[in-house]
Amino acid sequence: MQADQLARGTAYNGQIRVYAAVSTALVQELQRRHQLWPVATAALGRTVTVTAMMGLMQDEGKVKVQIKGDGALGYIVADADAAGHARGYVHQPHVDRPLNEQGKLDVAGAIGSGFLYVFKDFGAGEPYRSSVPLVSGEIGEDFTYYFTVSEQTPSAVGVGVLVNPDLSVQASGGWIVQRMPGADEEVITQVIERVSRLPAVSSMVAEGLSAEQLLAQVVGPEGQVRVHQVVPLSFACSCSRERVENMLRGLGRDELQTILREQGSAEVTCQFCNERYVFERGEIERLLEDLNRP
Ligand code: ZN
Repeated sequence: MQADQLARGTAYNGQIRVYAAVSTALVQELQRRHQLWPVATAALGRTVTVTAMMGLMQDEGKVKVQIKGDGALGYIVADADAAGHARGYVHQPHVDRPLNEQGKLDVAGAIGSGFLYVFKDFGAGEPYRSSVPLVSGEIGEDFTYYFTVSEQTPSAVGVGVLVNPDLSVQASGGWIVQRMPGADEEVITQVIERVSRLPAVSSMVAEGLSAEQLLAQVVGPEGQVRVHQVVPLSFACSCSRERVENMLRGLGRDELQTILREQGSAEVTCQFCNERYVFERGEIERLLEDLNRP
């Protein structure tokens, strides 16, 4: 299996920008940590894969995406940084739905109708926030709409996850092509024609294509892709015992005393990675002593 990677490049002499991701191991890790059922694996996997490519679009900071639909999955949250670290979770990981009319996992049916929210933190300056209504709930089309309408960058997005019968992930990946200002109409027509005939990205990943090879495949030989950057993509969560301890301290004395009295210990589970942090009675008492100190 090829390593998880993100790649970005340009084509047609800089008239087109293109991004690609191979995210099989990342989505497998999400499946394992959150015990995702197949439609949740596909929905979260697609969302995290596009979010990871959006992370690469920035030089610094983080991108956070939320998809809130009225379907059985509830909401999906994903975030990623510019260095290829990504994570995410879905509100209801155990959703079972019949396959759709095309015989595929019914992601749109499990998400329902709602909104796609994007928050960008550039490390400095004002963060960016935007939202668009979901156009199909299939994720790829929703991001296409988001880039085109909200970021005013005409784009096409392909993203997909192949789930094995044993719930493991066979292949996962994605691509984004974007029109640069001043691009020739002829080039745009060629690109649209090309991407409309592309095989599913998950099949291309299953055949062994790397992120760099996906870039070339998406724009075709006429595009003469130039690869600008390839970075490893991996699961990473920023939670730690220290952070949880600070959070507990932030609850204040009264709240900690209530926890001690009613539960005797505190258990905190990180939503993003499902890591469990347990603070026993003695540790909470020590936190209380710290807080009592002037
Ligand atoms: Zn975590």
